[in-house]
Amino acid sequence: MATTDVQLRCNCGKFGAKLKNVSPKTGSRVQCHCKDCQAGAHVLGAQDQLLPRGGSDLFQTIPANLEITEGAEHLACFRLSPKGLMRWYASCCNTPMFNTLGHNKLAFVGVLVPVMQGSGIEKVIGKTIAVAHTKDAPIGAKSLKEFGFNRAGFNILARHFGALMRGQSKENPLFDETGSPVVVPRVLSKEERRAATP
Ligand SMILES: [Zn+2]
Ligand SMILES: [Zn+2]
Repeated sequence: MATTDVQLRCNCGKFGAKLKNVSPKTGSRVQCHCKDCQAGAHVLGAQDQLLPRGGSDLFQTIPANLEITEGAEHLACFRLSPKGLMRWYASCCNTPMFNTLGHNKLAFVGVLVPVMQGSGIEKVIGKTIAVAHTKDAPIGAKSLKEFGFNRAGFNILARHFGALMRGQSKENPLFDETGSPVVVPRVLSKEERRAATP
């Protein structure tokens, strides 16, 4: 199976990473329109990264495929609530980069597609297999069809168990060997969260 390494870069170029083994089989392209993902972009002033109807364009894969190559000191993280997703970003220019859970027990990372560099990314990562939470999408001209939510969830579990079998499930540049995140996430106050939520 042909896979490709894809460079990831923040808007200003100080933070860089590499996503290895990219193919439509090693990850799933998913569009999430939930209010939290929209709020996550608003917190960083990164609405320009969103799809026309407010969706986040993500490639979900296993963290063992991720390698930070430049500017690790710019890596930062916030959560919309104490138990919310960890939203990792490059603090040099507030570019959203990755989403993870608050722990590394599930081998899961969502990489924001807009930070992927190079031409032909669409081909490399494959078709969108799920469009989720469309009821939260702001009204707009482009119609949205909801599909694939269960399939995306199934793929996350299948990739996790694959990584577990290969002894790769804890390979993760965003968490240390004790399972703690490599940077302490900032948890938004309720007021901040409310202000950012559409
Ligand atoms: Zn930057
Ligand atoms: Zn979402």
